[in-house]
Amino acid sequence: MPQTHRSGFVALIGRPNVGKSTLLNRLVGRKVAITSAVAQTTRNRLRGILTTDTAQLVLVDTPGIHKPHHLLGERLVQSARNAIGDVDAVLFLLDGSQAPGRGDGFIADLLTRQRQPVFLALNKWDQVTAAQRQDRLEGHRSWLHEAGVDWPIHPCSALEGEGCPALQEALTAAMPPGPQLYPADTVSDQPERLLLAELIREEVLHRTREEVPHSVAVQVERVVPDGPRTAVLATVLVERTSQKGILIGKGGRMLRDIGSAARRQMQKLIDGPVYLELFVKVVPHWRSRPARLAELGYRGD
Ligand code: GDP
Ligand code: MG
Repeated sequence: MPQTHRSGFVALIGRPNVGKSTLLNRLVGRKVAITSAVAQTTRNRLRGILTTDTAQLVLVDTPGIHKPHHLLGERLVQSARNAIGDVDAVLFLLDGSQAPGRGDGFIADLLTRQRQPVFLALNKWDQVTAAQRQDRLEGHRSWLHEAGVDWPIHPCSALEGEGCPALQEALTAAMPPGPQLYPADTVSDQPERLLLAELIREEVLHRTREEVPHSVAVQVERVVPDGPRTAVLATVLVERTSQKGILIGKGGRMLRDIGSAARRQMQKLIDGPVYLELFVKVVPHWRSRPARLAELGYRGD
């Protein structure tokens, strides 16, 4: 008997750094969201699209939360609330290697008042030893019990894949019957240029410290076929000359490293050879210029 085709939206909600973007990439099977140990990596809300023979899930990633900490609860709830909108299910991610914290509590509290089904993913399960697993699971179960809910719990590792197929199955079953919403080969709702720019920004984040990350933006100027290759021309924008110096590095070494690592990631996304030309440009205060922000693809949230 043919199975009913299902489709719908799933919001990924959780504190910064619990692995939302990593899980999105894992489920979509391609790198569409950048990830990093630096909180606040995801600047835009991004949708990753997962298509199988019987279903299409549109996964909505949410940006991290800005400091200051005294506002953390409020901001977490606001960010979660923005993401929930009309989704069909909520995937609430926790760092399963730790006990639930205050931030998790804020989100749980908000979600208890939602009508959509909620699934709890205990991510980073690879960091929990076999001996600890039962305890952790029960700890989270009684935490939910105290909150008065019994959301299904899925331990998983977005990084290594354990538990992800079961999670995908559970989410799929929660989707309403419906047609494909995007063509089968679509992996993201973001334009390719923005995805490519994000891959470069990720490599910058991996290689720089405090003084650079939040002042960096990347603009992909051109993506053109060049024989069998795709040629990409991009500019990294920074706010100060000193930051430009850091990004270029001694003898241009840093920029070369960023470029070749980003190029490898682009080749995976595009599925073919890429030629990348990368420049660094100083644009003072680009972050406070609305026109610049729009040009760079940052939407208000
Ligand atoms: P987000 O802020 O919730 O989007 O978190 P990210 O997806 O950017 O991940 C934050 C950090 O946690 C990154 O360094 C990831 O590599 C790491 N991470 C994500 N998922 C896992 C996991 O399942 N296991 C482990 N060990 N690390 C993970
Ligand atoms: Mg993220």
